[in-house]
Amino acid sequence: MLDRQQFEQQLAQVEARVTSACTRSGRSREEVQVMAVTKYVSLETTRLVLEQGHAHIGESRWQDASQKWEQLHQLGTWHFIGHLQSNKVKDVLGRFDYIHSLDRLSLAKAIHKKATQDQQRVKCFLQVNVSGEASKHGMEPEQLISMAESVREMPSIEIVGLMTMAPYTEHPEETRPVFRALRQLRDELNQRSILPNPVQHLSMGMSNDFDIAVEEGATFIRLGSVLVGKDEGGETNGSHE
Ligand SMILES: *Cc1c(COP(=O)(O)O)cnc(C)c1O
Repeated sequence: MLDRQQFEQQLAQVEARVTSACTRSGRSREEVQVMAVTKYVSLETTRLVLEQGHAHIGESRWQDASQKWEQLHQLGTWHFIGHLQSNKVKDVLGRFDYIHSLDRLSLAKAIHKKATQDQQRVKCFLQVNVSGEASKHGMEPEQLISMAESVREMPSIEIVGLMTMAPYTEHPEETRPVFRALRQLRDELNQRSILPNPVQHLSMGMSNDFDIAVEEGATFIRLGSVLVGKDEGGETNGSHE
């Protein structure tokens, strides 16, 4: 299990890499938020991360997150990053501050319906499968504009950005075109004023490729193994789901 000192070391290493990626690309360090993805680790490890003042927590399944959320939610900002089935929307709404995985119209309708009933507004990212890998969730890039036009009519959903996952590769440099394409999609969405407000965020970059994602404009990077590690018995099947 992760201890305090180890977490501080890993956080310092991540910080150094984020800072140098910002410097290389002429960005300001404040533009990038680091999310700790705790899906592989225990309640106690998650508590440690939050108590160290690390505020952004990412989880990909409510079953695995519920205990952590119940006990720790007041300590941080919670991001739902996993594939979301429409019948699970009720578990996530009102609990997670952001949903990163809005990837289809049926899910948008389910979110809008429940959020309207609950008189809530939900911050969502539109997830795009830029790489086209069959194993990845997300809409095709060609669907983004029409999806945004549909969601525009759903006032309980606030689109704050775009999200993608790059293919795993031994050579992270190969992910650059994926991240660059997501940034261009965001810029196109904003130039065409499809949504009432310009979208700011790009949720992209994981343990294997976050340096490149930051260089290409990431505003949220989602870090599991490199930042909080993996506990024995933690979820083992999630990293590229
Ligand atoms: C698991 C997961 C991550 C973190 O994965 P690491 O490679 O351990 O950093 C990031 N994003 C999503 C969507 C995930 O499911």
